[in-house]
This record gives sequence, C-alpha cells and structure tokens, in this order.
Amino acid sequence: MKIIIIGGVAGGATTAARLRRVDENAEIIMIERSEHISYANCGLPYYIGGVIQERDNLFVQTPESFSQRTKVDVRVLSEVTSIMPESKTVNVKDLRTGKEYSESYDKLVLSPGAEPVRPNLPGIDTEGIFTMRNVADTDKIKSYIDDKKIKRAIVVGAGFIGLEMAENLHKLGVFVSIVEMAEQVMTPLDYSMASIVHQHLKTKNVAFFLNDGVSSFIKENDQIVATLKSSRKIKADMVILSIGVRADSKLARESGLDIGITGGIVVNEFLQTSDPNIYAVGDAIEFENPIIHKKQITYLAGPANKQGRICADNIAFGNKSVYKGAINTAIAKVFDLTVASTGVSGRTLKKEKIPYLSAITHSGSHAGYYPGSIPMSIKIVFSPKDGKLFGAQIVGYNGVDKRIDLLASIVKFNGTIYDLKEIEHAYAPPFSSAKDPVNIMGFMAENILNGLMKPYSWRDIESIDFSHTMLIDVRTKDEFELGAIRGAINIPTDEIRDRLGEISQQKKIVLYCSVGPRGYIAARILMQLGYSEVFNLIGGYKTYEFAIQKQSNEDVYDNSMIAIDNQIYHVESQSKDPIFSSINMIKIDACGLQCPGPILKLKKSTDLAQPGQIMEVKSTDPAFSADVKAWANVTGNRIVEVKESAGVVTAVIEKQTKAQVANTSSSGTAKNKSIIVFSDDLDKAIATFVIANGAAAMGSKMTIFFTFWGLNVIKKPKPESVSKDFMGKMFGMMMPKNSKKLKLSKMNMWGMGPKMIRMVMKNKKIESLESLMQQAHESGVEFIACTMSMDVMGVKKEELHDYVTYGGVATYLERAEDANVNLFI
Ligand code: FAD
Repeated sequence: MKIIIIGGVAGGATTAARLRRVDENAEIIMIERSEHISYANCGLPYYIGGVIQERDNLFVQTPESFSQRTKVDVRVLSEVTSIMPESKTVNVKDLRTGKEYSESYDKLVLSPGAEPVRPNLPGIDTEGIFTMRNVADTDKIKSYIDDKKIKRAIVVGAGFIGLEMAENLHKLGVFVSIVEMAEQVMTPLDYSMASIVHQHLKTKNVAFFLNDGVSSFIKENDQIVATLKSSRKIKADMVILSIGVRADSKLARESGLDIGITGGIVVNEFLQTSDPNIYAVGDAIEFENPIIHKKQITYLAGPANKQGRICADNIAFGNKSVYKGAINTAIAKVFDLTVASTGVSGRTLKKEKIPYLSAITHSGSHAGYYPGSIPMSIKIVFSPKDGKLFGAQIVGYNGVDKRIDLLASIVKFNGTIYDLKEIEHAYAPPFSSAKDPVNIMGFMAENILNGLMKPYSWRDIESIDFSHTMLIDVRTKDEFELGAIRGAINIPTDEIRDRLGEISQQKKIVLYCSVGPRGYIAARILMQLGYSEVFNLIGGYKTYEFAIQKQSNEDVYDNSMIAIDNQIYHVESQSKDPIFSSINMIKIDACGLQCPGPILKLKKSTDLAQPGQIMEVKSTDPAFSADVKAWANVTGNRIVEVKESAGVVTAVIEKQTKAQVANTSSSGTAKNKSIIVFSDDLDKAIATFVIANGAAAMGSKMTIFFTFWGLNVIKKPKPESVSKDFMGKMFGMMMPKNSKKLKLSKMNMWGMGPKMIRMVMKNKKIESLESLMQQAHESGVEFIACTMSMDVMGVKKEELHDYVTYGGVATYLERAEDANVNLFI
C-alpha cells in the first residue's frame, strides 16, 4: 500500500511513525512544506524567551533521523498544491527547485494544521508585525528582536499563546503591552477565573488592555503605532499577532472534500473524510464535542497525536479504531501562574442553554503546615440533574497540572461530581492534603446538589435588593474591617448562634466568608434553625474581590517614566527607601496560611514591635498583596515595599509611632463623599462629575444618587427599545433623551448655550460631560439610580448606562452616613 501524508509535524509525523510500526512493507511518503518535521511548536515561545537555549532542542527528529528510523520517504520544502481524488494523485511542488510533479496514492492523510489569523487591518503589512506558527516564523522574530534591539512589543490577543509570548518577551527585558478585544483573557476560562489571571498580570509590569482591539497600525519614525478601538495609541518596536488560528483546510476545500460549519475538514469517527481514501487529523479537522455535541475544532497537540495513531491503525487494519472527540484539556504557564482547563466552561453551557451548576474552591496545593503550600482556585461546572461533570478550570501556582489531569479523566470518562469525592490520591504533606483539593471540590458539589448548601454567585451581588435580602459577612471583625462587600453586616460564624436576633427570618440571607467553608457552616446553622432562604457566596469574598476589581491596567503606564526608552524599568522599583538591614528586621513567615492568617500574624508581631521597626512578611495567599496595603491604610503603618515572585508575596512594613498612626490612619475617619443629583442641567451635571472625579482621585469612595430629573444625566445615548405605559411615554417625550440633550440652567438660548459650552470645553481641552462620566465610572464612582423616581417618571433600567446600580432612600442614607461630605445638586 502507498500512503502519502501531507504535513510532517504533530499529526502527520505520528501517523507516519505508527504506520511504519504496524506495516513494515507500506510505502509511506511524508510531504512537508517547511524545512523541518516533528518539531516542538509548543516550545517556540520558550525558545524566544531564552528558556530553551539550544535551537536544536526544538527538533524532536530531523528529516534524516526520522527517515532512518522509520524508513519513511520524508520530503521537506515540498508543498502539495492540489489533490485529485478521482485519480488518487497529488501535485507536489519542490520549493527548492520550483519543479512540480505528481504522485499517486492508495491512501492519503491530511495533517496540514492551522494558520494564524491575520486580520485585514490598515497597516497590517508594516515591517515588524509577526505571527507565529512554525520555526521559520520563530527565527524571524528572534533575529528581529536581536538585530533591532527591541525594547517594546505589543502582543495582540491574550489567548494561551499570546500570553506565553508576552511572558517570554518580558523575560528578555522587553516592555510588553498586551491588547485583548474581549473582556477577559483565555476564553476557555470563565470570567471569575480569568479575573485571577488579570490581577496577576497587573502585578507583572506589563501594560494590559482589555475590551480594546487594534484598529490600525502605522509606522512613525522607527516605531509602530497601534491605534486601538478606544482611540488610544500605543507605540512599540514590534507586534506579535496572536488573535487566533483557523483550520488550514484550503487544499481540502479545493479538492472537493466536505468542509464543516467551523471551517474544518469533516471526518467520521474513523477520521475518514468525505472521500473514503482520504483521512485527516489534527488542527484542520472538525469533530463533535462529546459534552455539548456541537462541532468544534481542537487546536491542541495531544488530540493531534492521538488521532495520528487512530488514523494509522484504521489505514493498516481497516476502520476499527474510533475517535471519540476531544474535551480540550489545556494548560499554560502565565508568568508565575499555572492556568488549566478541561471540558466546557459555564459560559459555553449558558450559550448552549444547557442547565448547569458551578462550584468554586480555593484550597492549598498541599498541607498548609508543610512549607510552600500555595492556594489554587478550582471551578467546576456540572449537571444539576445527575452531577455529570461538564468541565473544570484551575488557576494556581503548584500542583495545578495533576489536579486538572484528575478532573479531565473524570470528564473524559463521563464521570460525576460523586467520583471526585472518591478519587484516591497519593498523599504526604509535601504533595497534597489528606483531602485533596479535588476531593474537597467533590464534597462541595455534592452539598450543592443535595441541597445542603444553596450557591450564590458573585454576579448576583450587584443586584441585591437590601429591602428583601440580608448580606452577612461571617468572617472575623478584623477581616471585615480590611474590606467587605458594600451593604454587608458582620456576624462572625462563631457568634452566629448568639446573634440570631439580628438575622431576619423574613428576609433572604446571603452569607459569605473569605473562601467558602465558614459561610457554609453558618448556612448549615441557620438552615437547621428554620431559616429557609439561606445562600452561600460561591468562592467567597476572594472570588468576588478578584472579579469586581478593575481588570486591566491601561492607565498605569500612560505618563510614567517608561515613555523614555532607556528608563523603562524604573517602573519596576516600587520602593524609594534605603535597603533595610536584615539584622533588625522582624521576619514573619505566613506562607501556607489562608486569609486572614497572614494579616493576623502581622498584627501580632506589630503589636510587639517598637515604632520604627521593620517587619518582613512572606505570604503565599495571593490576596495578601492587596490585604496588607488595606491593613496598613487602616492601621496607619507604613508600607515600604510589596513584591511578588513565584507565588510568594513579600511585604516590608515599618511600624509607626502613635502620633504617626493618628496622622495617617484612615480608620474611623470617613473619607467618603456623596452627591444627590436632582437636576438635569448640563452645567450642574458637569460640576457634579468634576467634583466626583476629583474626590475619587484623592482616594475617596464617591457615591452619586440620581433622582427625578437627575436620571436624565445617566441615560444611554442609544437605549434598547422599552415598552412604557401612557404616563411613561408622556414623560419620555418631554424629558431629554440622554446627556447630549441636556440644557443649561441659564442662557440656554434655544439650545445655543449648551453647544457653546461644549465647544469652549473642547477648545480648552476640558473633558466632555460624557468622558467625565466615563472617567468617574472607571475610577470606581458609584452611580445609584433612585428606583422610586424611576417608577414615578416611567424610566426603565434599559434606558440607563449599564454600570448604574439601583437603590432607594435607605441605600442613599447608608452611603451618606458613611460620608463626611454630602452635596445636593
Ligand atoms: P502542525 O503540527 O501545525 O503541522 C502541520 C504541518 O503541515 C505544518 O508544518 C505545515 O507546514 C504543513 N503543511 C500544511 N499544508 C501543507 C501542504 N499543502 N503541503 C505540505 N505541507 C503542508 N498545543 C498544545 O497542546 N499545547 C501547547 O502548549 C501548544 N503550544 C503551541 C505554541 C505555538 C507557538 C503553536 C503555533 C502551537 C501550539 N500548540 C500547542 C498547538 C499544537 O502545536 C497543534 O495543535 C499541533 O501541532 C497540531 O498538529 P497538526 O499536525 O494538525 O499541525
């Protein structure tokens, strides 16, 4: 039998090698367009970063060694230009000589892989813009970096490969800007898990843009200027485009083979295309996802290799080996983090309208008492009907790989969350805990499934109606003071039985602790005491905090010293203090402790320390970086430096004297401000946002309560159509449609006044009302629309900006109570 294989890397080389192992007499020809076969695509980013130092190490085999071992006729620098299925021949072009010839086959295997997407943007062909698919691309990128002494790069697209490239360029000392059009990185993750990656990236001295795509490139002097959709411009010396790949199915399409809805080559369970003599494997094929039963393309090396073996067996022995589809198990190193996923995400299930439940845990990578334990966050999604595990995601530092593989095995073999409970793992303190994080996840999911715990999502916190719901923070008082969810009251789990009088039987109760277990215990107490509507926040405050924070850092590097190229690394130094002698330093090892452990340990040492004494705390709790700053702010102690490396946060703090504490501590001093906006006059609205932005910049928590005519200020320019009753329609006709239609309080002059004001503001480079508003939103200013006024005036939620929250007078009064300035405009 004569077999031709197109493509000589993951799928192609595996098929060829297996074919030879099962059929010594077959004539096998492997045709590869590039110069190399069987190379490590997955290692290419690490070669660029210098982690893999020897170029030769990228080549698992050379054409010669492969040929010698397998007796396969390897033809590199040869491209198959057409396939003629009727005559069972292919045309091949020798790329060295340009000569074309035809070759016949009995069976043909296609493994042409996938090609990077290169969007048709203005300036896309500017020198210095690269995609990466193979060794030749890698060589070009590497020599460009060396020859041009690259200092700045833009990575467009924050998928697995984009982030690997960002990390490796950063490792070379290049300042990297990551630009991602979606609201999150790494699409196989759900947002709550991606947000952990976002917060990590923000600490890594890379500029990081979300919700913003590139709209054009232009060369200016020696640099490439990328203009983003937001109109922001970023300058760099080179650009890596990593916005995705698509199946390289052109050849198959041209030869009349069936192509599926995803653009991949259609194959049956034996990996046979619509022509029985042609098989296909790898990144170019479309196959059914075994969980959601939708067609998909899997761009991963593992499935390509496994398909190669199945395909070879089917050619050699007849169609007996069945391919069952990929569950897309993937893993990547993102700076210090390991990020992994298997199966499908909650987002995909939602899109496919498949009912699901989810659970999130934050467990230690191994026993907390053994040094080096670092938390990992795990999310699973499963069927509410029978607990079938649909998918899992993990973000952590150590031990992520083995947990994702355990979870992947359960997904692959149609297991359930009950199987997670039963997984028997190898345990000794340096490796795991007696109950592995995967077991813990099983216990939690079972509690949810059998009704012992009702889950509450961080997404629902925003829309809590406090007139019907009590939000209870069951952490300790110290933890609560470091930061809590707005509107929550603090009743620690251990006090809950004694403070039942404070918990209404008539209201829905939402509980939360730092990561989940204390909330669960409190929920069990209340449920057994007759409270019927009791929920526990999934993933606790930690998940909520990761998800609701600002996710990107585009504003951080704007006007900083990095604008001067040879000083780009000045931003890395967070401390201007002299190096403290480590002799007098109090060293606190809080590694392995979960929140609030590290803070409590620090507090204890601070109480015993002398003013002026320096303390160094090491913690493996990723939230410690933010917590320690909040703690210092509340207690008035001074942060000298906070660093993070390989999952360990090191904070250096100086204990202050009583007088210094009194001067600097924010504890007990209300820094908050609130404004009631009653008017919809343009000038008053501008004044409101100027004050709000100023207050936010000075670190105040700012709340603006929009009532009556003030609601017109926060209307969207183009709202969705909403149905209104007669009075609502009448009010709607009489009121301004949005902020652009507001009038001046004086000198309106039939609409001329507002236009003049806007023109003067523009000339004087003062932000427009709309930008001031956006700026306020981005600075964390809280916009509350008065629900009573909305009802009276027939204003619907759909008409107001998405970031507006809703509340009544009690909400306003609660904010006003916390504020030291309250204005009425
Ligand atoms: P490929 O391995 O891409 O091989 C296809 C070959 O076909 C190419 O060499 C091409 O030159 C050749 N070819 C195409 N058309 C013709 C033609 N007409 N004539 C002759 N030859 C032709 N996957 C993971 O699971 N983990 C990772 O960490 C990972 N990292 C990656 C990093 C990078 C930078 C890249 C590019 C990919 C990475 N992948 C990773 C994906 C993985 O490499 C692919 O899924 C896998 O290689 C697909 O195998 P394949 O045989 O389908 O295609």
